[in-house]
Amino acid sequence: MNFEPSRKTALKNLDKFIESNLSEYSRLRNFDFGPDKRDNVSCLSPFVTHGVLNEIEIIKKSLAKFSFSKNEKFIQEVLWRTYWKGWLELRPNVWTDYLVSLNGIRKKFVENKVYLNAIEGNTNIECFNEWVKELKENNYLHNHTRMWFASIWIFTLNLPWQLGAEFFMQHLYDGDAASNTLGWRWVAGVQTQGKHYLASEWNIKKFTNNRFNNIKLNENAPPKVSEKTYSIIKQNFANPQDISQNNLLVFENNLSLENTDFKDNKFKKVYLVSNKNENRSIKLSEKVIKFKSHLTKDQEQRLKDQSIDCEIIDVSEVKRIGENIIGLYPSVGENLDYLNSNNIKLNFLYRKLDEYSWQYCNKGFFNFKNYIPKIISKFILQA
Ligand SMILES: Cc1cc2nc3c(=O)[nH]c(=O)nc-3n(C[C@H](O)[C@H](O)[C@H](O)COP(=O)(O)OP(=O)(O)OC[C@H]3O[C@@H](n4cnc5c(N)ncnc54)[C@H](O)[C@@H]3O)c2cc1C
Repeated sequence: MNFEPSRKTALKNLDKFIESNLSEYSRLRNFDFGPDKRDNVSCLSPFVTHGVLNEIEIIKKSLAKFSFSKNEKFIQEVLWRTYWKGWLELRPNVWTDYLVSLNGIRKKFVENKVYLNAIEGNTNIECFNEWVKELKENNYLHNHTRMWFASIWIFTLNLPWQLGAEFFMQHLYDGDAASNTLGWRWVAGVQTQGKHYLASEWNIKKFTNNRFNNIKLNENAPPKVSEKTYSIIKQNFANPQDISQNNLLVFENNLSLENTDFKDNKFKKVYLVSNKNENRSIKLSEKVIKFKSHLTKDQEQRLKDQSIDCEIIDVSEVKRIGENIIGLYPSVGENLDYLNSNNIKLNFLYRKLDEYSWQYCNKGFFNFKNYIPKIISKFILQA
């Protein structure tokens, strides 16, 4: 794992993964061999979450190496992110409701021993304690481990999923409102109502190569129940026509402007918007804030190298920019919340991939999967 915060590192990691490990991805991806042997998965998510790498360039490179059928699993995984994002965009109240419930639950658990032991990695479940340590030290967990972790948190430790999702957001370099909140909801059984993910001793042992002992879990818990259902809110993700000669705001989810659909537009000035903890509902760990800050500086440098006028500002300074501002859409999450709660109305630019794919996020992922060949054909084969 090399999470040095730069596009150069991200590209190097991508190339190395495709060259040496992609061929075995579908066979080995579910194994967590431990933090010192992570090359069976790409570890690209910290870069993709921040838009330092985008889904299309990753898929394009993978298809330059292997056929679609050989690559299908990897492509599906890459597009899970696009799907979760679209799903949440169509039901933004899932995020706002999550933050409201989190706020109430937090107060109740301030002194809760089980909770405090869990976040300190002080439980009697050895593997769980190890993962807490790994999360805080490396700011990354393997996908299968995230599922086991969330399942143990919810069904064996009996803690609310909302607090677990907060804990992940605080420490993951790839912390993302959609993938994280919906991932936790899915494990709990409230995303696909009645279907939960139950971790089991044999499964953990098998996929960690027997690295852990004494894994005593509640393997029979029923799914969590939520009365709340969310219907789709119709949204317009169309891009405005005339966008040049505006000031452009770029948020932390699009930190590679020179590789977006808008790379050829001439903007008056580009503002890279950072968001420290003061204006976040979920306060991030110092390491995560630093990671974001370095990625933002790396983007600033690359724009300056292309003689693009740009400046890093704090989200609280957006108001001072005045007129003619347009923003690369920050997606449902903390930055959009800040703009909305401060009544800052902007026109947004949507990535073409999102504009097109989000229409297929109205149902489950198995339905979305049917449209993947269409997405590939539109953005890769015809592009
Ligand atoms: C409870 C829970 C919480 C999660 N929280 C986050 C989060 O905050 N941020 C985040 O980016 N991912 C999250 N995930 C999804 C997934 O675990 C990570 O994206 C993945 O582990 C990243 O590792 P990788 O880059 O090595 O993945 P790889 O297996 O190499 O996959 C390649 C890329 O596909 C995408 N991807 C793969 N699996 C998923 C998935 N299940 N959902 C969405 N995208 C996926 C990522 O962009 C990833 O970089 C969560 C999953 C669970 C179960």
